[in-house]
Amino acid sequence: MESGLRTFAHEEVLTSCDVCGGIELHTVDARAHVMECASCGYRFVNPRPTQADIAAASSDPRAYDHWLREEEGRKLMWQKRLDLAERAAGGRRGRLLDVGAGIGTFLALARERGWEVTGTEVSESAIRLARKRHSLELIPGQLQEARLPAGSFEVVTLWHVLEHVPSPSSALRTANSLLSPGGMIVVAVPNDARAMVLPRRLKRLLTRTAYERYEPVVPGQEVHLSHFRPDVLRRLLHRTGFEPARVTVDDQYPKPTSWTSARVGLTRALARTTGLNLGNSLLVTAHRA
Ligand SMILES: [Zn+2]
Repeated sequence: MESGLRTFAHEEVLTSCDVCGGIELHTVDARAHVMECASCGYRFVNPRPTQADIAAASSDPRAYDHWLREEEGRKLMWQKRLDLAERAAGGRRGRLLDVGAGIGTFLALARERGWEVTGTEVSESAIRLARKRHSLELIPGQLQEARLPAGSFEVVTLWHVLEHVPSPSSALRTANSLLSPGGMIVVAVPNDARAMVLPRRLKRLLTRTAYERYEPVVPGQEVHLSHFRPDVLRRLLHRTGFEPARVTVDDQYPKPTSWTSARVGLTRALARTTGLNLGNSLLVTAHRA
């Protein structure tokens, strides 16, 4: 790593829950520094690395190499996501803001389809790539620092961004203020209640032992500060001024195969009919309340 970081210092301590403000917090995984709020069940890294340390690690120019290698598959993934967002928005076009726009593949596609696009991004290397590859001028930094005019977007998207930000509630409140009346948000995050964790949860129940299920955050890898279950994400959206319309599964696979598509189809059908969401990633659409 050019930044020289090998491990993160966990120097920043949170004393309350970002979702509900609760102050009774329990450790659920000491090795990975994951705590849970006793009131609402929100799980998050605490203590956690500082934003400066995280930013230094994410601006590693090599961090996006695998995205570039997978670009063809990723285009398909982004098309499916845009299709879904457009259906949720009722087929209309307008102004679209993508928070954490990465190298701009999604925004470039939306622009091709007639959307007026804006993006924010914290990684300087991603901003450079978006400029070079798509002539997109992304706004550097967190959404709250972007100083965008209130009520100026019909759609705001956060594709696997909320698990990275220091305050999900603050990001969503800002997104809410940026939406026009009746505007819509699309949020996708990894699903902390995905089917893969069920056998381990059962084992824990049967053996009555604590187990370590979270990976510690490491420089040079994706830093997830929050772990969302569907009920927690729904509560968070309510509390930040949204009316969730649909909770489904995000088709997050950069190289879709018949197996991944079948899996997404099945978990979506299960979520629709039973409300049980076992997909690897959640996708929630919500209107500004
Ligand atoms: Zn809470």
